[in-house]
Amino acid sequence: MQVLVTADQVRRALRALPAGTRVGFVPTMGCLHSGHMSLVSASVRDCHCTIVSIFVNPAQFAPNEDLATYPRPRDDDLALCKSHHVDFVFAPAPDHVYPENYGTYVQCDVGSSDRNPHAEGAARPTFFRGVATVLVKLLVIIRPDVAYFGRKDAQQCAVVRSLVHDLWLDDVDIKVCDIARESDGLAMSSRNLYLSEEERKHAHILYSTLCYVTALAQSGERNAHTLRNAMTCRIGEWQCHEKPSNVHFQLVYVSVCCFATMREIQGDIPVNVDCIACIAAIMGKTRLLDNMFLHFPT
Ligand code: AMP
Repeated sequence: MQVLVTADQVRRALRALPAGTRVGFVPTMGCLHSGHMSLVSASVRDCHCTIVSIFVNPAQFAPNEDLATYPRPRDDDLALCKSHHVDFVFAPAPDHVYPENYGTYVQCDVGSSDRNPHAEGAARPTFFRGVATVLVKLLVIIRPDVAYFGRKDAQQCAVVRSLVHDLWLDDVDIKVCDIARESDGLAMSSRNLYLSEEERKHAHILYSTLCYVTALAQSGERNAHTLRNAMTCRIGEWQCHEKPSNVHFQLVYVSVCCFATMREIQGDIPVNVDCIACIAAIMGKTRLLDNMFLHFPT
């Protein structure tokens, strides 16, 4: 496994591969866990060569967010990549990606609050501009055949699909992988490390609320407003009756939207739409995010 730190090194390493080499790319911010590694394993299985980027992208953090404290266990990450048969890790320094006087950013409407006033773009207004910018830079330098993303970040998947289509980068195949979960259902995330022991015990509330709303949908409830209300009420009840008083919890949003476009659904969910329920919440100082597909009786 080779660790590359400049765009030029990436270009040269990939140009040296034999013609016809199928290159898989997994973009990450590091602090790798089994969720990331499920993407890596899919790439190693499907492609001849796998490149993982590890870059804590300053452009996607708001000033009040955790850029400085985001965990960066570089040696563990490299060991994990090596043991999973990754060929290249691209781990550039921030000032290589954004040198002084850097001035080109990518704005993607799919991530905007106009598109979905309840979801990530609204809760974190500059987030998708940073995500889209770094992804375009990485896709342009790597030019992979396949790029792997987790459905955990559902709106990010929509942003990626939209930007590769709009910027004519669509010779890359975008693969979306399922959400890897802990044994109690909590979606794996690098930020779960921030949870205290007490918070960790209760963090599965997002998962159990999503299971609850999925069961409602499976029993025939198709009204998006009713499904959103059901999630909010369920969380409200948990906050009143079960949440310990020393655990701080704040619901940021619930959303019932089309997975492809991330548009919030009003009224009944159309039969031919792949629909997801999403929740974001803050527990202590940790931002938690999760979603689940809604399936309806046929
Ligand atoms: P991050 O390092 O958080 O930027 O995530 C890098 C990639 O891993 C993104 O495509 C995420 O959606 C994906 N990912 C993060 N957590 C999980 C998970 N629990 N299951 C599957 N994919 C995940």
